[in-house]
Amino acid sequence: MTITQNPKVKSFETRLFINGKFVDASDGGKFDLISPTTNEKFAEVSEATEEDANAAVAAAKAAFPAWSALSPSERGVYFKKLAALIIESHDELAEIEALSMGRPVSGYFESYMAANSLNHYAESGHQALGTSSLNTPGFLNMTLRQPYGVVGAIIPWNVPVLFLINKSAPALMAGNTVVVKSSEKAPLTSAKVATLVEKAGFPPGVFNIISGHGHISGNVLSHHMDIRVISFTGSGRTGRLIQQASAKSNLKNVILELGGKSPAIIFPDANLERAVKETAYSIQWNSGQVCMANSRIYVHESIAPRFIELFQKGFANIRSGDPLLPSTNHGPQADGIQYKQVQAYIEEGKKTGKMVLGSEPSEHESGFFVQPTIFLETPEDSKIMKEEIFGPVVNINTFKDEDEVVAKANDTEYGLYAAVYTKDVSRALRMAKKLDSGSVGVNCTSPAGASDMPFGGYKASGVGREGWTVSMDNYLEVKTVLIRVDEE
Ligand code: NAD
Repeated sequence: MTITQNPKVKSFETRLFINGKFVDASDGGKFDLISPTTNEKFAEVSEATEEDANAAVAAAKAAFPAWSALSPSERGVYFKKLAALIIESHDELAEIEALSMGRPVSGYFESYMAANSLNHYAESGHQALGTSSLNTPGFLNMTLRQPYGVVGAIIPWNVPVLFLINKSAPALMAGNTVVVKSSEKAPLTSAKVATLVEKAGFPPGVFNIISGHGHISGNVLSHHMDIRVISFTGSGRTGRLIQQASAKSNLKNVILELGGKSPAIIFPDANLERAVKETAYSIQWNSGQVCMANSRIYVHESIAPRFIELFQKGFANIRSGDPLLPSTNHGPQADGIQYKQVQAYIEEGKKTGKMVLGSEPSEHESGFFVQPTIFLETPEDSKIMKEEIFGPVVNINTFKDEDEVVAKANDTEYGLYAAVYTKDVSRALRMAKKLDSGSVGVNCTSPAGASDMPFGGYKASGVGREGWTVSMDNYLEVKTVLIRVDEE
């Protein structure tokens, strides 16, 4: 079957948003967007040049003094307007993402989460407080929390609006100005948000959003001497380049949210139906293109046959097809590159493990669809157990005891999210302590999360944490002020 897409959205914003204005790239350059569902070109987007990235940073630098002088409540007014506009644009954002990277509109939630974040930060600015101390005789000392200046944000394509807002909102509320670079695979929702930033009336230069490839404009941002903090979500490979760029330029602070190879561990006393349903969803949602997806499942050998049988049945409910249709819950991979990468891992997996398909083969002639795929009995040291596949491919292996499974689960360079299913509270807490992971789910797995809990990675899954209670700290310097107090 060949899919023909029929979107309600007929035109998109595709330009750069710099200094409060939409502009074409300085050299007129554009790159093509290909629908991952039909494999047909459907848009041309401005490719920011080095000059454009520099212009965005210069605009942000010029806007900083006035923006940082506003009170948090004054900044919050813009945030609330933007939150309302994002909610109003929910359907359009969902459609644009479905067209760009194939995410089904049926599960689109980012607009609500992004608006929640904006509304949260709109009210949180006054929490940026310093400390005071009388502990040094003859002194009253204090700390001030101050914005850095220009913050850079480089975001991936898998959940773009959420990353855009979760990085920009705390940075802006702390008084910084921002330049965001969207991903070349899914730039249109960021450009749409830029139109809403304009409507919300943010002063020119405060909130700049550019599109383009990483090695061009992203590289300029990571090396820029006027950017003092850069927040990045994406692959470990690019994260390392951004750390190097920081070291080579101005030692800017770097926050990195990187990849994962998350384990889910199922003990014999687990609620089996729940464990199956949630672990299957974790690796299938967004076609497995989720940093924290549980791509390795360790199930106790005594319940493994039943678990695997139910798991396959769970995958059988998947309805792959046009992500614009409300009935679809499994879209294609984001583009041809992702598709080829996942297929290469599947071929690799066939050499070492036992492959079981989780659903009927998709019969779409066009598009980059990958069937949810299960591998059993894969050796722990094989490539598909060690590397991030970023597709709907899961390894299910068995274990006999707690120590063995902890050793296996931790035997990876990643450490983003781990899950444990058991009714034994002490065992759950022992596991939570022992697993090398930034988040541990007990009787739940990713994407379960909490906005007021820090999110980030152990080991090579990241540097730093993000979340409502910690993100503003990422964007505030600490200054110590020592004040001598004369006694008379
Ligand atoms: P990617 O690293 O290829 O690209 C991410 C961003 O970096 C894009 O905007 C890209 O243009 C830019 N970029 C690429 N090269 C650059 C360079 N040399 N300098 C500056 N910027 C550059 O990653 P991706 O394919 O977009 O995203 C998938 C990866 O992101 C996966 O590894 C996934 O696990 C990870 N991810 C992590 C989290 C998290 O919160 N930990 C969330 C989502 C995705």
